[in-house]
Order: sequence, then C-alpha cells, then structure tokens
Amino acid sequence: MIKAIKSPKLYRRQSTFIFTGAIVSIGINFLFISANFKSVFIDVTPICMLLTLIVLYLGMFHMPKLVIVPIARDLLIENIKDIVIIVDSSNKIIDINPAGIKLIMSFKNKKFNIKQGMNFIGIKFNDLLKFVPDIKHVTTVSDTSNEYTITFNFNNKTFYYRVYKSSIFDTDKSEIGRLFTFHNITKMQEYTNNLKQLNDELLISYRIIGTAMEGILMTDASGNIIKVNDSFQRVSGYKKDDLIGKNPRILKSGRHDKTFYLNMWHSLSTNGYWEGEIWNKKKNGKIYPKWMSITSLKGSDGAVENYISISTDISKIKKTEDKLHSLAYYDLLTGIPNRTLFYERLERSLIRANDNKKAVALLFMDLDGFKVINDSLGHAAGDLLLKEVAARIKSSIRKSDTVSRLGGDEFTVILENVDSHEYVQAVSEVIIDKILLPYSILDREITLGVSIGIALAPYDESTVEGLMRKADAAMYDAKESGKGKYSFSSKEIEKRNQEILEMQIRLNAALHNKEFILYLQPQTAFDGNEFKIVGAEALIRWETADGKIFTPDKFIPVSENNRMIIPIGNWILEEIFKIDRILKSSGINIKLSINVSSKQFENNNLVSKIKEIFKENSPQNIDLVIEITESFLMQNTEKAIQNLQKIKELGIGISIDDFGTGFSSLSYLTRLPADYLKIDKSFIDDIANINHKNITPSIISMAKTLNLKTVAEGVETQEQINRLIDEGCDELQGYYFSKPLIISDFIKYIKQYNKI
Ligand code: C2E
Ligand code: CA
Ligand code: CA
Repeated sequence: MIKAIKSPKLYRRQSTFIFTGAIVSIGINFLFISANFKSVFIDVTPICMLLTLIVLYLGMFHMPKLVIVPIARDLLIENIKDIVIIVDSSNKIIDINPAGIKLIMSFKNKKFNIKQGMNFIGIKFNDLLKFVPDIKHVTTVSDTSNEYTITFNFNNKTFYYRVYKSSIFDTDKSEIGRLFTFHNITKMQEYTNNLKQLNDELLISYRIIGTAMEGILMTDASGNIIKVNDSFQRVSGYKKDDLIGKNPRILKSGRHDKTFYLNMWHSLSTNGYWEGEIWNKKKNGKIYPKWMSITSLKGSDGAVENYISISTDISKIKKTEDKLHSLAYYDLLTGIPNRTLFYERLERSLIRANDNKKAVALLFMDLDGFKVINDSLGHAAGDLLLKEVAARIKSSIRKSDTVSRLGGDEFTVILENVDSHEYVQAVSEVIIDKILLPYSILDREITLGVSIGIALAPYDESTVEGLMRKADAAMYDAKESGKGKYSFSSKEIEKRNQEILEMQIRLNAALHNKEFILYLQPQTAFDGNEFKIVGAEALIRWETADGKIFTPDKFIPVSENNRMIIPIGNWILEEIFKIDRILKSSGINIKLSINVSSKQFENNNLVSKIKEIFKENSPQNIDLVIEITESFLMQNTEKAIQNLQKIKELGIGISIDDFGTGFSSLSYLTRLPADYLKIDKSFIDDIANINHKNITPSIISMAKTLNLKTVAEGVETQEQINRLIDEGCDELQGYYFSKPLIISDFIKYIKQYNKI
C-alpha cells in the first residue's frame, strides 16, 4: 500500500483494475443467480469469488510489474550514462539513447558534419562511428566478437569504451536487429594504465636496486633488515637469508665507539639523513671501510617506516689514500721516513726531550763514495745499495728511534732518551761498521763508507734548524778528517764553515788579483834505456795576498758550487798557452795536461772557449791534453761523448783521470775518443801493498787493446816504477820524480833531467 501511495499513477491503475475486476465478477454472479438466467443450474457464486480473487491477485502482484517495467526500461535507456544503440538487420540505426546523441554531438566540429538536432536515426551504424575522432579498436585479453574495447581521442584525452553487442531475434530465431551498449571505461583504464606504469617503474627500481654497484640495505622502522641487494651480499659475504629479519648491528666492526653511533642516530632523527665513513665486518670477520648514507623514509603520518642505507666499499680508495700518505711521509725507494716526516718527528722528539729532561741526538750521515758507484754502475745499482744501507742503519738502532732519508745519499737518525755521549758514540760506530761490510750488487762486491755528524739537543742547539745545521757541519768535519768517521758538533766546525764562506767571497776577488798559479808536475816515459820528461800536468794553486797557499781540493769544490770554476777554467786555458810559450822559448817542447771540471762542460762553455783561445793564439802549436775524471764521464755519457769528439777534432788529447774508480765498461770506453788512461793513484799505492790486488796489469793490457796510452799517477817508489815499466805502462808521474813545481823550477828541473 505504501508503495502504491508513493506511486499514485500506478495506484490509480491498480485500484481501477481491482475495482473494475471485482465489479465485473460480482455483476456476473448476480446475473447468474437472478431468475432471468435460469439456464445455469449450478451455483456460480464460488466461481465468481475465485474470479474476484484472481483479479485481486493480478491487481496486487502483476499489475505493478506490467506497468513499471516498461516505464523503468524506458527510463533506464533514456537516463543511463552508457550509450545504447539499436540497429536493424541492415545495420541502420533504429534507436539511439540521449547519452549517445550527446556524445556524438560533442564531437561537433568542422571536420564532422554534425548538425544541431540530429537524431541519427536511419543512418548506418558504421557511418555513425565515423563521427568519432581517431577511433581505434583495442585488443584486450577478454575480447570476443560481442565484447571489445574501442578508444578515441578527444580534447587531447584518450577515452576508452567497452562495447557490448547483442543480437535481437524474431520469433523464428532470425536476427532482426542488434543492440550495442558502449560503457565508458576511461577512468578504469587510466587507473590500470597508471598501475601498469607504477608497476613498470617499480620493476625498474627493483632492477636498479638489484644490480646497483652500491650495497643497499633496507630495514623496517624498528631496524630489522627487510631487504638487501646483490651488491650488499657480495661485499659483506652474507646471504640474504642470513640478514633478513636481523638487526644491522651484526655488521658492526667494533671500530667505532658509542658516540659514533649516537651521532649517527642523532643526525638521522633530526635530519632524516646520515652520511659518513664507517667500518663494517664481513661474514668472514674481515673489517672493511665503506662510505655510507642512511635515509629514513617516512609515511604519510610522518612516522618513520623504513631506513635505507646505501654504501660503497672504499677499501681501494683507502688504500690509495694510505699510499698517498706514505708517499708524502715515506721515502719511496727505501720505505723509511722521508724529509717531511723526519722534521715532524724531530720536532716532537725535541718537545718530549724538553718535557722529560732527556737529550736527543741527531746523526747526520752522508755516504762516502756513493756518487761514484751510482754514476758508474747506474741508478738501479745505486738504488739497491741505498735500500741495503737504509736496512742496515735501521737494524743498528732501537725501534723507537727514527732513521730517515733526506734525499740522495743523505740519511739521518734521531736517537731519543740519550743519557750519555758514549751511547751515541757506540750507535755511530755500529752504523759505520755495518755500512762498511761489503755489498753484493749486480754480481759485484762493493764497499761503501759513511761519515756521521752528530749534534745533541739541548747541548748544541735546541731547535730543529739549529740542530740540523750543527749536525750537518759536524758531518763535513767527519768527512774532512777522513771518510768513515763520526764527528760531534763543535765550535771549531762552525768556524771552518765560516772560513768556507769567507773563501767563497775571497775567490771572487782572487782571479782579479791574479792569485792563481799553475804548478807543473813532470810526466816521464822510459825509452828502454832511461827516463825522459815527456809532459807535465798543470795543477792549480791559490796563493793569497797574506801568503797562504791553498791546494785545489780546498777551493775547487767551492768554486764548482758557486760557478767560479768557469772563469777559473778559462784562466787556466789562457795560462797554459802562456806556459807553453815560455817553455818553447826555453827550447822545451812537451805535452801539457790540464784538469777540467765537469761544470765547465755545461752550456758548451768549454768547447767554445777552447775554440776562441785557439784562434787568439794561432799559429801556436800546443800539444794539449785535457784530463777528465772517469766518474764525470759516467754521469754524462752521451753528452760527454759529443763534447769530447769536438775537443778531439781541435787536436786536443783526452785523458781519463782517476781511471779504475768509475767502473766504466769496456763497451763504453770503445766509444770514447780518449787517448790516455790515467791509472788512479789508489792502484799505484796498491802495488806496494802486501795483499795487493794487482789491478794495474789488467788496466794496462786493456788500454793496449783499446789503443790507449797509460799514465800512472802518484808514483812514489822504485818498486812501483819497476813493476809499472814491466807491465808496459807508458808514462809515470809522481813525487818520486818531482812534486808539482812553479814554472821557473820546472824549467830548471827538466833541463837537468832531459839534459837540454
Ligand atoms: P788529480 O788530477 O788526480 O791530480 C793529482 C793530484 O795528486 C795532485 O794534487 C798532485 O799534486 C797529487 N800528486 C801527484 N803526485 C803525487 C804523489 O806521488 N803522491 C801523492 N800523495 N800525491 C801526488 P793536487 O794538485 O792537490 O790536485 C788535486 C786535485 O785537484 C787533482 O787531482 C784535480 O782533480 C784537481 N785539480 C788540480 N788542478 C786543477 C785544475 O787546474 N783544474 C781543475 N778543474 N781541477 C784541478
Ligand atoms: Ca789530473
Ligand atoms: Ca788523478
């Protein structure tokens, strides 16, 4: 009844039907029971009552369905958002609902000829579809011939419609038309598309995480590991199953203290981020450094949901760093501390010494004879030697003491907690003795010495610089007093250094003041019968205004250092021409040798100067020989050969001085334009030795093979002369015959000797 009231139209129809039905039924009953209709002999009352009941039933229950359903269906089709189109058997549209018309009308533009008020009835279904822009059939998995999806683009947006097609059959089952329903699934499709894209992105993210070079570890809010990538597993050595559900603290190396982790958590909780270097432990127990960043991921409510750590193994970087550190502080060759670390350590030692009132000793060491070995045997051999020396010094001192290499063949030792002079002396002696033991380098037995200068803090000096200066000076003192010695710093050394400085200053004036003199030392040759003077070596002396005479070993090295050797060398060249003229004027025609310093070869000084002087003094026919040390030649092989070639072309003889100390090889000698080998004095001295090594015969026979003449220097005894003559030495020079003489004395001497 309530339904009926709510639907007055239906109620009216229902009431009318029931009322009319009931009246008709009652009317019929009356007719039959009245006397006028005697033809019916049965009582029709129950039939009429049944009829009334049927009317009531139909009216009550069927009436609404019969009335409402068609209305509702109409309404549905009219108002539904889906598009409904009915076509006949020839595909012509018989009906299209307003949603359909509305959609097609919305495409109204110039391209599509759609006019206002069109109802599309009678046009072909396929022609209607032509109004739809960019319509496409999209294949989906659920497609059938009666159910498929179409898309079209409109207003820069893609629309998706699911099409349902059903046939309309006549009573004889023949198809008389079709019903098309278009359901807009754009929203759903977009959602699906988004989902798909999200899924793809997720997939990519997962792949990135999985294959990332960085180790990635993810935990939940309470710190339990929920995910680790391959890289993390590879580096840590842990498998996924070892880690999932565990707390990352199982990776702790134990290298960081509590505050480290406190700081990390503080940064994470305040900034949501932490980054730094951290040491972790691998499954095999090995600890390794990594660079790690941790980020906290928060949910929409702001609470932390996950922590993600991304880490890179930086062991390699660390190693490089350590290497760089050791490059900065350690000597690459020997592995001992270098100059930088030495200064740092000395500084610290001095501070400590000051605190605990103990002394620090600084030993400054310079190898004796290293340069010659290095120049002649080559740098590789020199390097091996330095390594061995470093090891020997190291083995002579306590672990707490520092040995370092300052460069070249200079080493230092810092001795801490020194309480006696004797202790420092003992250590120095051990070092000297150890270094003196023979070395076997490149199948050769080599000996080497060391000179040690010692300065003590706080007695000599208490600063790094002061101590260095004192020890350095003491070292030179040790060298001067004979190699392989040690020397403590003293005031006298300082005085001597002062003298060297003064000498440098005075050297500058010496040339101008004509304070240099060339002495001549005779060189003799045995003609099978007697000795004759065949030449002389010019040896320089410096006579100062106050009557002091300096031998060249005092001032030549100094002049080489301040480059005074160039003008001095030029003066010697000019002077030797003068001497030759004086000798010739006295009827003396001999070969004259001069010594040339390696410094004179630099910048082609020597060659051009010789050419110039030759020109100036032409046509003087001088028999000149230049003496050049073997060790110098070994330093400058190619350049030296070229220069010597040029000198030789000028008709000057070349003599290799101090031969036998420089280890020059036979093959090298064959390339040199030399004329003389001057056998070093040490081998001549050796002749008189009981355990002599008998080197001279081999040098002489080698020189003969190379077509070189031999000159023995430093000949002092008859025994030496006998031997050398026996062995076939060409010329002899030494105190036995004469010391170097001034020219007037030399002329007297030669006239007498050669019976001129
Ligand atoms: P050097 O060229 O090997 O000269 C030989 C040195 O031995 C000379 O010393 C000479 O006086 C000395 N001597 C000669 N005979 C004997 C002997 O029988 N016994 C002993 N014990 N010694 C002997 P000096 O004159 O002091 O020269 C030393 C070095 O100075 C020379 O060694 C040479 O390398 C260098 N020198 C000398 N004069 C010059 C020069 O004019 N220019 C250059 N650049 N260097 C020179
Ligand atoms: Ca010489
Ligand atoms: Ca010599």
